[in-house]
Amino acid sequence: MSAPPANEAPEARPDGSDLCTACGLCCTGLLFDVAPLEEHELPRAEKLRLPLACNRYHDAFSLPCPCHLDRKCTVYEARFSVCSSYECGLLRRCKAGEVPLGEALSRVERVLRLTDDVRARVPPLVPPRPLWDEAREHIRRRDAEDPSPAWQGERGALVAALGELRIACREGLDP
Ligand code: SF4
Ligand code: SF4
Repeated sequence: MSAPPANEAPEARPDGSDLCTACGLCCTGLLFDVAPLEEHELPRAEKLRLPLACNRYHDAFSLPCPCHLDRKCTVYEARFSVCSSYECGLLRRCKAGEVPLGEALSRVERVLRLTDDVRARVPPLVPPRPLWDEAREHIRRRDAEDPSPAWQGERGALVAALGELRIACREGLDP
C-alpha cells in the first residue's frame, strides 16, 4: 500500500513504484475498510495510534490510514507487512507488462479525479471514515433534513458520481 516519500528510494516494488507513488489509493479506505495486521505488529500499530479494528478472529486497523498524508506513507520504513505485500490487479498487470505504465497512470488519475469530485460534494467527518461511508451518512442526514428540489438535484449528481467512481475503482484498479 501507498508509496514512499518522494525523496526515498522505493525498494519494495522497483517495477511498480512509479504507479504507487502517483496513487496511494489502497491506504485511503476507497478500496478496503480495514487492513490486516500480524499479531506482532499490534504494539507498533498502537504506538502509531492507528484506529484498531481487532476482533476474535483477526487483528486489523481501519482505513483511511492516518499515516497516509499527501498521498504518501509517512511511516514507509516501518509500514506493515500487508502494506508492503499488497498489490492491486492493475499494479500486478503493470509489473507483468500487460498494461503499459502510461495507461495504468491514466486509470489512477481518473480514479483520483472522480474521488476528488465526490469529496467536493461530501463534507469530511472527524474522525475520517471511508469515503463511501461518509457519502452514505451525508445522504442520510440531508434526506432527513432537506426535502428541497435543490437537494434532490445534488443528491442525484452525488449518486451518479459515486456510481462512476465505483466502476472506475473496480474496473480500473481491480483491487
Ligand atoms: S491501489 Fe494499486 S497502484 Fe495504487 S498504491 Fe495501491 S497497489 Fe499501488
Ligand atoms: S502504514 Fe503506510 S502503507 Fe500502510 S496503510 Fe498506512 S499509509 Fe498506507
